[in-house]
Amino acid sequence: MDFILLLWFACGLVAAAIGAKKGEGCLALIAGLIFGPLGILATVFSKGNRKECPFCRERVHRAASVCPHCQRDLAKGI
Ligand SMILES: [Zn+2]
Repeated sequence: MDFILLLWFACGLVAAAIGAKKGEGCLALIAGLIFGPLGILATVFSKGNRKECPFCRERVHRAASVCPHCQRDLAKGI
């Protein structure tokens, strides 16, 4: 039983680490702690609140109007 708990806890941390890159670390941590390996899967396939910059292909926040990587204007609709 301890092993299962430890495994679930580890899943929470892994999901949080993946989710943090997508700007949803907290949500991913909870998902991982509740759903274990499934939470990790959900986080991996989640698009999060990020979109891809059309100029440099970096992931930026969905609401961003200027890309933090290449400084180009994203406001004119993607
Ligand atoms: Zn960019």
